[in-house]
Amino acid sequence: MIERIPQRIDHFRYTDQGVILEGVVTQKESDKDLLRFKEAILENSSDILYHLEFDVDFLGNRYVSGKVSTKVILQCQRCMNNFELDLDCVVSTAFVQNETEQKLAEDSDYDVFWLSKREYLDPRVLIEDELLLALPQIAMHELSEVGKSCKSEVVFLEADSEPDVHSEDNNSSEKADDNPFAILKQLKSKQ
Ligand SMILES: [Zn+2]
Repeated sequence: MIERIPQRIDHFRYTDQGVILEGVVTQKESDKDLLRFKEAILENSSDILYHLEFDVDFLGNRYVSGKVSTKVILQCQRCMNNFELDLDCVVSTAFVQNETEQKLAEDSDYDVFWLSKREYLDPRVLIEDELLLALPQIAMHELSEVGKSCKSEVVFLEADSEPDVHSEDNNSSEKADDNPFAILKQLKSKQ
């Protein structure tokens, strides 16, 4: 039942006819063809599922809506361990070819996908854009997972307190004297 995703579609025809594209971009295909996405992650740990509905709304926006989802392996920038992240993208994107269409699309709260006059659309580029947008700017374990999988809280606290000690040393001695904690430290060291 699942067909290979077309590599070239005419967005005019697709939106006029209300075509629905549904299927899977396999891990193998994604590794070979979605190179920008491949660069941005460590590994795609599942196939990419997509459901894309093309349509024209009452204002005349030619748009695609639907869902794209997959799982990826990223490296946590806090504890440097790898973790798996679900990417679930809600697609709501209008195709635009000039600034008037762009403004209409933005006023209607669509994401914008630019196409030149006679350009065919590769739906995999659309899918890739959505996935890239869904990636976190800084990859990290979910906060709820901290302490479970992310060892970093400890690392963080240690790392945070270290520079403080050094910066105190670097500060002028007057400032250090004014600091009650510095005095406390001196007292402690005398005991
Ligand atoms: Zn982590």
